[in-house]
Amino acid sequence: GKIRVGILFGGQSTEHEISILSARNVLAALDRTRFEPLLIGIDKAGRWLLQDEQKLLACAADPRRVALGAGRPLDMPATLASADPDSNLSHRIDVIFPVLHGTFGEDGALQGLLEIAGIPYVGAGVLGSGIGMDKDVMKRLLRDAGIPVANFRTVRRPQFDADPRRVCEELATLGFPMFTKPANAGSSVGIRKVAQPTALAEAIRFAFEFDTKVIVEAAVSAREIELAVLGGNPATVTVAGEIVVDHPDGFYSYDAKYVDEHGARLDLPARISPDQQWEAQALALRTFEVLECDGMARVDLFLTSDGKLLVNEINTLPGFTAVSMYPKLWSLSGVPPTELITRLIELALQRSRARA
Ligand code: ADP
Ligand code: MG
Ligand code: MG
Repeated sequence: GKIRVGILFGGQSTEHEISILSARNVLAALDRTRFEPLLIGIDKAGRWLLQDEQKLLACAADPRRVALGAGRPLDMPATLASADPDSNLSHRIDVIFPVLHGTFGEDGALQGLLEIAGIPYVGAGVLGSGIGMDKDVMKRLLRDAGIPVANFRTVRRPQFDADPRRVCEELATLGFPMFTKPANAGSSVGIRKVAQPTALAEAIRFAFEFDTKVIVEAAVSAREIELAVLGGNPATVTVAGEIVVDHPDGFYSYDAKYVDEHGARLDLPARISPDQQWEAQALALRTFEVLECDGMARVDLFLTSDGKLLVNEINTLPGFTAVSMYPKLWSLSGVPPTELITRLIELALQRSRARA
């Protein structure tokens, strides 16, 4: 019979809508001769709802206009138990593809649940997911491994609230402009580019709306280069792509990413020298390894005007939307979406067999 793939999407994070767009494309690319999808939408309250295939395929491409369908509620423990071969529940699941960004989906929480339930799943494990989701922990590990990252500091809520002025004065030594970011988020949610000291406190407060930990980072004047990594033995990496931002926000903001059609252009492949290409690929693979990743990840780099490469971040559940780099980079490197999804699912099944 066919392999039953549970596609989990939506979720309780700020990237709920982006996740729906990604899931639509994973579903569209699924090789139906080998796999049979079971669509599970997670609503903003955390409920699991069975979703309709045709509806998902027909959803709009604009995140402001997508929403989950009102599907039949699934009991989460029963759904997970259905992965048990002895179970006679109708919705048997062989492997889960978490197309979830952010909290609970990308941060290791769901991965832990699936480990305990004994269900194979696509992508990074508990540790790699947790590390990748927390920009503070991620950057500390990179720094520890001698991988260049932008200068940054971490601010926790109680420390900031106790004396905001003093905290801001200390942070100002990083130099302006700087970026304020919730430690745990994505899609540029909660991020601001801060041009001057008077705007810093307000930007930090804004980031605290999304997390209790915020990182403040010196702005790097650089080109944005991204590479896609596929796990396996050994892991493999694509050629580099470049994001060329052209947006009033002045950086690759949420609007530049998903709302404004002309907010950013993707240059595929990036116009960089063969040496820089090679260096970027080596750095992406090393980052994947240092950060305990598995399955897949997109590694985002900065290329400074004097030719230095820095790591900005890793994304363990990169977007699969129509404008997303991860699938585009693989297509460019000779792995079209259907083959990519198949390989990701095979890696998940191999990992669980290797453990058994
Ligand atoms: P997210 O996980 O939300 O994508 P990022 O850390 O990648 O968060 O930041 C989003 C965008 O903000 C980046 O793609 C880049 O355009 C800009 N940015 C973030 N940090 C810096 C920095 N230190 N210097 C320059 N631009 C930055
Ligand atoms: Mg990110
Ligand atoms: Mg990013």
